[in-house]
Amino acid sequence: MTIWLQRLERRATLRARAGLTRHLRPRRSAEEVIDLAGNDYLGLSRHPEVVAAAIDGLTGYGLGATGSRLVRGTTELHTALEADLAGWLGAEQALVYSSGYLANLGALTALAQPKAVFILDQHAHASLVDGCRLAGAETVVTPHCDLAAVVTALAEAAGRPTVVVTESVFSVDGDAAPLSALHQAAREHGALLLIDDAHGLGVLGPAGAGGAAAAGLAGERDVVVTATLSKALGAAGGVVAGPAAWIRHLIETGRTFIYDTALAPPVVAGARTALRLARKDDARRDELRQRAGHAAERLRGAGLPTTVPAAGVVSVEAADAESASAWAAACRERGVSVGCFRPPSTPDHRSRLRLTVNASLSAAEFDAALDVIVACAP
Ligand code: PMP
Repeated sequence: MTIWLQRLERRATLRARAGLTRHLRPRRSAEEVIDLAGNDYLGLSRHPEVVAAAIDGLTGYGLGATGSRLVRGTTELHTALEADLAGWLGAEQALVYSSGYLANLGALTALAQPKAVFILDQHAHASLVDGCRLAGAETVVTPHCDLAAVVTALAEAAGRPTVVVTESVFSVDGDAAPLSALHQAAREHGALLLIDDAHGLGVLGPAGAGGAAAAGLAGERDVVVTATLSKALGAAGGVVAGPAAWIRHLIETGRTFIYDTALAPPVVAGARTALRLARKDDARRDELRQRAGHAAERLRGAGLPTTVPAAGVVSVEAADAESASAWAAACRERGVSVGCFRPPSTPDHRSRLRLTVNASLSAAEFDAALDVIVACAP
């Protein structure tokens, strides 16, 4: 065995001993599990109108985009989706990427001007962390949702181009960032606010326009919103929305936009229909949020430490990585799929089960799933 393979084996053994081995579990198309792990909040990924639109996109444009956006990858579907997204989010312009991860990398690297400072919440998603790293800008990580720490960092960065980077609804614990206060602080210091609305889009705000819109920040000239189309829209792809000048800058300079093959046309077509459906389905959105609140109460009532959900993410703390894995496995055996988050994927080295509420489940299924989670608790 080469020295390299030996090293990898050693690391795998250490991970296994700590109960941290990751597993790929392929699912079948017609599974008999109750899904509280996926991000298909509004149940749109299999909606018949979405599927039909994707098939039309496939028939009309083919499976792949055949090129990057500036070469041959921009179809009429892409520009129509961008117009739809800008209209929905109340932004001057929107730009679609092939994933939310790439949207964050692209936005942050493009924002990194000489001497820039990024102020990043400690619970920010890996794509935001990596965006800051790739941008090469000085990055100040502030304790989770600590407004005073952000204000101090802003004051220390006075005179330098500064970006406050946050999620609207944090993917780890499902809690909300104090967006209005962050915006006010950023504005007072001439800083920009970048909001990753991955878990807010389609779930919060007027017509589901997201957490930024819910905080009254849609269309603000010092706010850039990023999001993924892979959660409430049940599709794939990412978006950056903001002032036209920023979007122009991204088209001209954003490497993850310029050098990446465009999002596949069937996905773009499906996402447009999903957006139309999501926009008008306030009833489903209300149901989703109500369910998240109900789940948190039920779990807390059973003595399980559970976060207060701002949208569709409910997080329940586990003692350690091993008991989180065992808990999730026991739920799976009893037909309930839940997310298992543990180090190194968690920002605070704590472990939890993460439930993502899906409005397309029946109330009975949902309650049965909560019973299983409680019954399987270690
Ligand atoms: N930001 C957040 C907060 C997310 O939860 C995710 C999804 N894991 C992403 C960005 C990345 O989006 P995508 O999966 O489309 O790359």
